[in-house]
Amino acid sequence: MINKAVDLARKAQVEWVKVPVRERAAIFRKFSKLVLERQAEIMDVLQEETHKNRLSAFEEVLDTVQLTHYYGRHSAKFLKDKKRSGAFPIITKTREVHRPIGVVGVITPWNYPFTLPSTDVAPAVIAGNTVVLLPDELTPKCADLMLSLMREAGLPDGVVTIVHGGGRVHGSELINAADFIMFTGSTATGRIVAKQCAERLIGFSGELGGKNPMLVLSDADVAKTAKGAVRSCFANSGQLCVSIERIYVVEKHYDAFLKAFVAETEAMKLGDGNDWEIDMGPLISEKQFVRVRDQVTDAISKGAKLQTGGRVRADISPTFFEPTILTNVSDDMDLSRGETFGPVVAIYKVATDDDAIWKANDTDYGLNSSVWGGAAALKAAPQLESGTVTVNEGFSASFASHDAPMGGMKTSGVGRRHGRQGLLKYTQPQTIAVQRLIGIAPIGKQTNQAFAKLVTALLGVWNRIR
Ligand code: NAD
Repeated sequence: MINKAVDLARKAQVEWVKVPVRERAAIFRKFSKLVLERQAEIMDVLQEETHKNRLSAFEEVLDTVQLTHYYGRHSAKFLKDKKRSGAFPIITKTREVHRPIGVVGVITPWNYPFTLPSTDVAPAVIAGNTVVLLPDELTPKCADLMLSLMREAGLPDGVVTIVHGGGRVHGSELINAADFIMFTGSTATGRIVAKQCAERLIGFSGELGGKNPMLVLSDADVAKTAKGAVRSCFANSGQLCVSIERIYVVEKHYDAFLKAFVAETEAMKLGDGNDWEIDMGPLISEKQFVRVRDQVTDAISKGAKLQTGGRVRADISPTFFEPTILTNVSDDMDLSRGETFGPVVAIYKVATDDDAIWKANDTDYGLNSSVWGGAAALKAAPQLESGTVTVNEGFSASFASHDAPMGGMKTSGVGRRHGRQGLLKYTQPQTIAVQRLIGIAPIGKQTNQAFAKLVTALLGVWNRIR
């Protein structure tokens, strides 16, 4: 099935690359408009498949609209040929061009099943590639709806092909046949995918897991930070690669922050369904629910203290786990260093701002950090080892800055999405250098030595003036 899809995509690419970039990009500006107009339908499908709350579903709509519009507007500029300095002035004319790679395999997870496929497919396709997409097996309808809207916006048949069944079944075959892999998922699976790509010497971009820290520094506004912490930890029920799972609070704010954060968390409206005012919905699946529950049970059995939450809410849904705040978390507990990917956060007291920075960086992951405060936060930001650093917000300010790169340091990823880099990674740079008038060799009967002397003299002048 995969080989057939890749063959068809390869044939379609031959025609697709002939479509001018501006026309390819215009399709995605139209798609962006359609997504905004048809948001209710999209949110209904998202909620049906994932049970996320309505506002989290709306955030997917928003992200898709903004990012596909961004690539629709800026791609032609990013892909334009660039003049480069030649080997020798005047006689060598050099330019850099960006060629598509061919067939891109895109593998996406279930947590943002509309925005992630849309925003990975858009730059790949605008760059002149065709795509074979493997959406997660839990969320096929979101991917199908995405493709039908792309087609409605004018995307020709064969440019994007969806194969259902998921990466566990089809991933290996896709990696064996495609020319580049864009993978989003856990670090463990990312390693498997990266190894297979390395074996074939094809490019790989991986957006992987995180254990993202928040730092509440000495000059933070505690009330504002506590409200922000709720958004940062519990949006999309914590099933968000950039959301916060560890909070380091300087001693002087610790008691006040903990009290305010617990109060804000307990005020959240929990539920399942399309009521806009529900702040948090159930987890997507039994498997995800068990993973979250078991990590919390393990932590409590080893001495973690429950500040709020920790209960299963079968009255709402069999997969509902309350937003949970823990203290006394130590390194022998699974959730101390391992990603939970649920509505659970550990809070730690630290002596100074520098201690908070050190603890935040003491992890194998490096996806996002959130730092709260005034001058202290601005000073801390460049010292944090993560692909995005969000000051006075959890993650949305950096994730939605679509003109800037997004991705992970350390084991959180390879490569970046968003911005110029998020498009150019789907291309192969090619250098075209045209030699004019004379070759780079002795002229006529000139000896090699005379040629070397002449070049030395010319370069002496040239390197002084440029
Ligand atoms: P996962 O790694 O189990 O699955 C992710 C995707 O990979 C799914 O589509 C799955 O079908 C596919 N897959 C599974 N095995 C595969 C294989 N051997 N070859 C190819 N594909 C395979 O992850 P998950 O638990 O379903 O998703 C949550 C994870 O995704 C979390 O770790 C989260 O942090 C990460 N994530 C990262 C980002 C980011 O931008 N960095 C965004 C969203 C989610």
